[in-house]
Amino acid sequence: MENVKREFEEELKSVKNFEELKQLKAAYLGKKGKLTSLFKKLKGLSEGEKKEFGRKINELKEHFERLLEEKSKEIFEAIKRESIESEAIDITLPARGINFGSLHPITKTIMEIEDIFRSMGFGVEVGPEIELDLFNFELLNIPKEHPARDMQDTFYINDNVVLRTHTSPTQIRVMKRQKPPVMFISPGRVYRRDSDITHSPMFHQVEGLLVDKNIRFSDLKCILTGFLKLFFGDVKVRFRPSYFPFTEPSAEVDIGCIICGGKGCRVCSNTGFLEVLGCGMVHPNVLINGGYDPENYTGLAFGLGVERFAMLKYGIDNIKLFFENDLRFLEQFSYHKGRLL
Ligand SMILES: [Zn+2]
Repeated sequence: MENVKREFEEELKSVKNFEELKQLKAAYLGKKGKLTSLFKKLKGLSEGEKKEFGRKINELKEHFERLLEEKSKEIFEAIKRESIESEAIDITLPARGINFGSLHPITKTIMEIEDIFRSMGFGVEVGPEIELDLFNFELLNIPKEHPARDMQDTFYINDNVVLRTHTSPTQIRVMKRQKPPVMFISPGRVYRRDSDITHSPMFHQVEGLLVDKNIRFSDLKCILTGFLKLFFGDVKVRFRPSYFPFTEPSAEVDIGCIICGGKGCRVCSNTGFLEVLGCGMVHPNVLINGGYDPENYTGLAFGLGVERFAMLKYGIDNIKLFFENDLRFLEQFSYHKGRLL
């Protein structure tokens, strides 16, 4: 009995996990276990000896069970301690931070332009980028062979279909769909065969159209002057007579150079002014082509280049920066009106 006890206690010391513990338990307390086999020796003993021996074996069995229970707890605690240590999180380490995307400066500029015109009551319309020659040119008073077609290097898909060279065809599309009054702007992509430091073959325009009774040139001046002052701040605004086939009379709009403050610099070619807009009163032929009666209705129209507005506002000197998707450039525009976008 003493030997069995010593052996058990010795073997228990080397037990490291539940599997070994289970094996040890079976080896002593199992059906053919060392302790169980001691019970078999009871047969050959006298009644008095049986009682004494049986009591001692039972005590030993209880002793073994107690030791096994303690060992089991010990193994469980060790496993728990190990997993806590291995899964520990160091909450004092610096956080990784979250990268927010940002709006493209062109998108931001269009949104700012839209905000200003919406505040004046203009709606927003969009037209297709693949456009009929009819809408892009003819109904805007630019028939085939008209010299004004030379002003715009056009991408032709076939004789009748083009990549629109301006957002003006939206004027015709909306007029054909809707009775006057109409009052909307139309932002979008346009395409011309042109590429240098200030021109890209794909760029963005915003078109504007207002047709109603008694619309006058003074309305055009008021709307555009207000818009330019809201967009660029308190700048000088001047209207210069010009020519466009779809407006009569036509004007180009300049603002006082925001780079040099009007003193003259490279950007404004020493004139002190920057051209930013084309505009005019809608040509009667265009009103007729849109289905409106020019005897009863007059209209004003304007168009601007979004890239030019963004370049002037943010001091960007190369149009290609907008389309190279360099994050170092784009990330500079992640703040909008003091909040993160
Ligand atoms: Zn200047």
